[in-house]
Amino acid sequence: MELNKKTIDDINVKGKRVLCRCDFNVPLKDGKITDENRLVAALPTIKKLIADGGKVILCSHLGKPKGEPKPELSLAPVAKRLSELLGQEVKFAADPEVVGPNAKAAVAEMKDGDVILLENTRYRAEETKNGEAFSKDLASICDVFVNDAFGTAHRAHCSNVGVAQLVDTAVVGYLMQKEIAFLGNAVENPERPFVAILGGAKVADKLNVINNLLEKCDTLIIGGGMAYTFLKAQGYEIGKSLVDDEKIDYCKEMMDKAKKLGKKLLLPVDSVTISDFPNPIDAPVDVEVYSVEEMPADREGCDIGPKTAEMFADAVKTAKTVVWNGPMGVFENPTLAAGTLAVAKALAETDAITIIGGGDSAAAVNQMGYGDKMSHISTGGGASLEFLEGKELPGVAAANDK
Ligand code: ATP
Repeated sequence: MELNKKTIDDINVKGKRVLCRCDFNVPLKDGKITDENRLVAALPTIKKLIADGGKVILCSHLGKPKGEPKPELSLAPVAKRLSELLGQEVKFAADPEVVGPNAKAAVAEMKDGDVILLENTRYRAEETKNGEAFSKDLASICDVFVNDAFGTAHRAHCSNVGVAQLVDTAVVGYLMQKEIAFLGNAVENPERPFVAILGGAKVADKLNVINNLLEKCDTLIIGGGMAYTFLKAQGYEIGKSLVDDEKIDYCKEMMDKAKKLGKKLLLPVDSVTISDFPNPIDAPVDVEVYSVEEMPADREGCDIGPKTAEMFADAVKTAKTVVWNGPMGVFENPTLAAGTLAVAKALAETDAITIIGGGDSAAAVNQMGYGDKMSHISTGGGASLEFLEGKELPGVAAANDK
């Protein structure tokens, strides 16, 4: 899908102060980055801006500091790791105001091709409210704005939307382009058959995604906790499985819609069940497998069963495009991860275009070692879901049109 927005290839940044919004919202444990995919994904844009002689000022949020400095959510470890990945110093502009005296002084000292990283944008209370004062501060230290933070594109915050509206030149970076190209092509212009797989906990979180994908895909597969509301809507006993009782009518509507449109809607035919939910989540569990017709009232379905896994994998084999969002079961527990693993394996083995919609499914695919077998793993869970719903992303809309 061609994005009708100006990109970093359309501008000249030589000698200019370029504020580049990235998504460096990475998981940290004891100050160490435990998954650096988002840093690696940001490198092409940063390298391009350096090579073109820009003064590269990076910014991002990290976690939820709720509008005040929280040392454990400082971006300092990111600056350190980025320096190693780039092979060039990324100076960390420590500043409790993000754009306060320290950051301004650091920007004033920059030479062409230098890179600095500002402090966590969510240290400022205005950030998540798109408040003008912080947007103005950000705009005051740059000549050009580049938005490469796909993972935040579904939000309208100061550092991706507010600032873009205050500068003359606001463009998107390579990661943003790549994300929209993969997700956009899959949804709007897919090589068919197009199989969409949805899982995860709740139907309620994915109402619009189900509705939109049903129109675009040839086969919609539903697994994970959300499948049980569909199964209940079909009249099956689902025991103590997750259910959104208010969404039963919605599920019926979607099943009717699939029939009318001539789309295949695949639901589990068997489940891996447990008697009590594990605590901690990866504690040992005693599992029993039941077909959906034989599900006992006192069991909880926590993974798709082996017959379902085979059926879903077969559907993947016939596809030319596959989009997957949400695990097939409680994959955090090794005994309940087989269904998610089987789907990940089917995607890894097909020649089809395979797109993982971020969040838990991306974590599962990487954890299972299939990351490099996928055509594209989105860096944004929420953003990719809103894109799959057919919504316009404010972070993209704010960039200059071509
Ligand atoms: P994200 O929102 O991060 O993108 P996601 O869309 O991939 O995540 P969620 O809707 O957040 O998925 O659901 C993921 C969670 O659903 C996992 O923690 C998993 O354990 C849980 N889950 C999946 N299947 C079941 C089930 N059958 N019963 C209970 N929980 C389940």
